[in-house]
Amino acid sequence: MRLTVLGSGSTGNAVLICAGQTRVLVDAGLSAKETARRLALVGEDVTRLDGVIITHEHGDHAGGLRVLLKSLECPVYISGATRDAYIRERVHGSSASDEPRKRAEVLRDRTEEISSSQDFRIGEIDFHPFTVPHDAADNFGFTARHDGVCVATLMDFGCITTLVAEHLKGCAAVVIESNHSRDMLKACDVYPWELKQRILSRTGHLSNEDVAVWLRDGFDGSAEHVVLAHLSQRANNPHVAKLTAEVALQERGMLFQSTAKITLSHPKEPTPWIEL
Ligand SMILES: [Zn+2]
Ligand SMILES: [Zn+2]
Repeated sequence: MRLTVLGSGSTGNAVLICAGQTRVLVDAGLSAKETARRLALVGEDVTRLDGVIITHEHGDHAGGLRVLLKSLECPVYISGATRDAYIRERVHGSSASDEPRKRAEVLRDRTEEISSSQDFRIGEIDFHPFTVPHDAADNFGFTARHDGVCVATLMDFGCITTLVAEHLKGCAAVVIESNHSRDMLKACDVYPWELKQRILSRTGHLSNEDVAVWLRDGFDGSAEHVVLAHLSQRANNPHVAKLTAEVALQERGMLFQSTAKITLSHPKEPTPWIEL
């Protein structure tokens, strides 16, 4: 199995997971043009995708989907609640009033309806989704398994529940949100108070500190790679996020040392391929 985070942050998220002959795009938050460009940068092609999974309807995860579908033939794997919310989602722009109709049209006969609590398969990859707490209709994280190797991706969730921590056990790679530094978020003067409260809440976004607690106390040490995703450009700093995670790994007890490598993802460029 191999994966790359094509782009991540509040400006757009997309992850590519490949195994055997199967290629799956997770989320279409980048523009269609940018998705195609980044796929080409990692040696892939939009026409060779076997499926697009949409985790939730927020613009930074699904905003590029409608236009992207013009150049793809593969189905979109989306839950019923997320599809409905995606069609209704408010879009900024001049033709915004027409957007729901266009979205409904483009998705017609193109979707494989999935559930955030039921396993599904795309080609040679088995997906095991699980609900995560976020202020969207039906957001989920998942593990993806092929030939005994398992990876996890999860973004946009406010806290690591016991259920989430259990699912991450045994994964060879984990792509996980490390959205903000709590202190930087509190000090950030461009965000209104309500937005800060939303981000900090249990259904908001995961902080560097939350990731650190998991890496120190909840992580089973099995992952060779932990990729930090969805970093805020205003309330985080890549060096701070990486250092916080690395220090947490060093703080693990002597008997629970881990050799996990921490990798940063970026809003504007893909990560190198992570091979498992
Ligand atoms: Zn997001
Ligand atoms: Zn979201």
